[in-house]
Amino acid sequence: MADYYELLGVERNADSDSLKQAYRRLARKYHPDVNKEPGAEERFKEIGRAYEVLGDPQTRARYDQFGEAGLGGSGMPDMGDMGGFADLFETFFSGFGGSGGTSGRSQRRGPQQGEDLRYDLTIEFNQAVFGHEKEIKVPHLETCTTCNGNGAKSGSGPTNCTTCGGAGQVRRATRTPFGSFTQVAECPNCAGTGQVISDPCGSCGGQGVNQVRKKLRINIPPGVDTGTRLRVSAEGNAGVRGGPAGDLYVFLKVKNHSKLRRDGITIYSEVNVSYLQAILGDTIQVDTVDGLTTLEIPIGTQPNSVLILENKGIPKLGNPVARGNQRISVNVELPTRCSEEEKILLEKLATHYSVKGPQHHNSGLFSRLFGQKG
Ligand SMILES: [Zn+2]
Ligand SMILES: [Zn+2]
Repeated sequence: MADYYELLGVERNADSDSLKQAYRRLARKYHPDVNKEPGAEERFKEIGRAYEVLGDPQTRARYDQFGEAGLGGSGMPDMGDMGGFADLFETFFSGFGGSGGTSGRSQRRGPQQGEDLRYDLTIEFNQAVFGHEKEIKVPHLETCTTCNGNGAKSGSGPTNCTTCGGAGQVRRATRTPFGSFTQVAECPNCAGTGQVISDPCGSCGGQGVNQVRKKLRINIPPGVDTGTRLRVSAEGNAGVRGGPAGDLYVFLKVKNHSKLRRDGITIYSEVNVSYLQAILGDTIQVDTVDGLTTLEIPIGTQPNSVLILENKGIPKLGNPVARGNQRISVNVELPTRCSEEEKILLEKLATHYSVKGPQHHNSGLFSRLFGQKG
């Protein structure tokens, strides 16, 4: 294996910051997610190995003195077992996020924003159309009012963790096929906070937060639909150590209507009229979201034609003055049987047609429809 300093492209007297910078630069360059060139992954692993050794002052000293033989084990790395190294790489990469500074390893946990929460709410069809104010009870974490979120009994306060001396992190020796390395890990005693609570608050048990079911009034605007997401600011979980609360997202589901169907801002419905209403025209009452409304069936309305009620559709979300239309498709019902009286009238009509009208076949049509010989 190549010399670790050469692998990282640094001088033998390079300080720890230059080592870290060199490692990060090369690791990014050869990371298998980024670099698909042959050999890149192997190179990436070698760089990782080199930094594992040189990044720790103790193993670096042994390496400087004895070379790879100083790192323990048989001297020949066991290439079969890369599992341990994958974990170590994860540890290093997770430190790359956000902090930006060079002292990521000694960073203590600061305030954390609370989690966003999701609440599923089912509402009626008309509530979605016209908007609605709804009271919901949302279980979320709230900052403990007894201890103001610090988790300590009043009068006492958090004290420095004795396990890590307040650093929030501990150094731990890890054995790998290449020798034992020191790894920095979150302190198990204080979970990385650097502080412990010796006398925990009675209300929250030292957590600083309590699970509370909070009543909220949700203002549902007109025009929402299934899938609309309403954000309620700062009603998610409380933040930790003074961090801001998360948001609550209310996911809406709109129930179906028994007679009306919607698509966007248009409402669709059907209406049944008799063949006589279709032929002669009529004025009828139809269901709309505003209640029963008068609909004009024009003379000579054809089966499956669509009649439009303007402004009876769904209000536009955010601009409720603008409303869609309701489209009503007309089913023309033909009787399967009719009364004696009706039959006589229809036959009269059929005769009238066959004598006067140009389309003689119509009489045949009537007979077929009503099972009668003309
Ligand atoms: Zn408390
Ligand atoms: Zn600690």
